[in-house]
Amino acid sequence: MAGYNGGGLGSLPTTRSSDAGRHALAMPLYTTDALILRTYQLGEADRIVVFLTSDRGKKRGVANGARRQKSRFVGGLEPFTLARLAYFERERRDLVRLSYVDPLRSPMVSSDVDVLGHVGYFAELIDECAPEADPSATLFRLGAAVVDSLGGEIRIEQLARYVEYWVLRLQGVYPSLLACHRCGGDVIGGGRLDPAGGALSCTGCATDGGLALSPASMRFLRAAAATAPADASGLTLPARAARELERAHRQLISSHLEKELRSLRVLRAMRAT
Ligand SMILES: [Zn+2]
Repeated sequence: MAGYNGGGLGSLPTTRSSDAGRHALAMPLYTTDALILRTYQLGEADRIVVFLTSDRGKKRGVANGARRQKSRFVGGLEPFTLARLAYFERERRDLVRLSYVDPLRSPMVSSDVDVLGHVGYFAELIDECAPEADPSATLFRLGAAVVDSLGGEIRIEQLARYVEYWVLRLQGVYPSLLACHRCGGDVIGGGRLDPAGGALSCTGCATDGGLALSPASMRFLRAAAATAPADASGLTLPARAARELERAHRQLISSHLEKELRSLRVLRAMRAT
């Protein structure tokens, strides 16, 4: 049961031992909205699906026969699909069994290659940051709102920096944007970010090292903090600030996760063409 720590079960009332066997056999069916994060092959015909539920955290489930051409799961398992789904869960098993997946909205309707490239990136970022069996309704709402906004006119750079800001903030990684962590002074005039320590210093207190954040970056971040996902592509982000924040967020993410995301290679390859 690697990766499963029993999180989320602690708040449930204790089941009397005489009830435990009956509950295990009953295999309750859960119906929920969920965001598909990734899938991988299982055996000849099945897939494991990793999905973030709206109410019970991230789950891993088996979609029986999902790799067959006439599977009932066809069209519902692309990464970052928002779906209504149902699954059976057995106590003390970390793999659930998917009953059905009805796609509600798919980001694959976009014809923009850059947008499609980012879809995989967003899915991986949320997958890596969502803890197993730890309900995060806010992270789900963020992901679902981003799927919604991908269907409209968007500017992907703005949206990507916005999503990174919010995912990092929900992880408790993003430092406070309100004040310098040393002197408490204002940082709206810019500052330096220490990606390892997650602290922000004003230009007066900043020592060497860290990542410079310009006034334009600070304005973007503060606006992002007060903006709904649907309006994220309307945020002002000059090209230089966009590069600065991209670099800063990459470092915050890789130092938080202690690895680099696989999908970044795709994004880099797309940019090179
Ligand atoms: Zn300071």
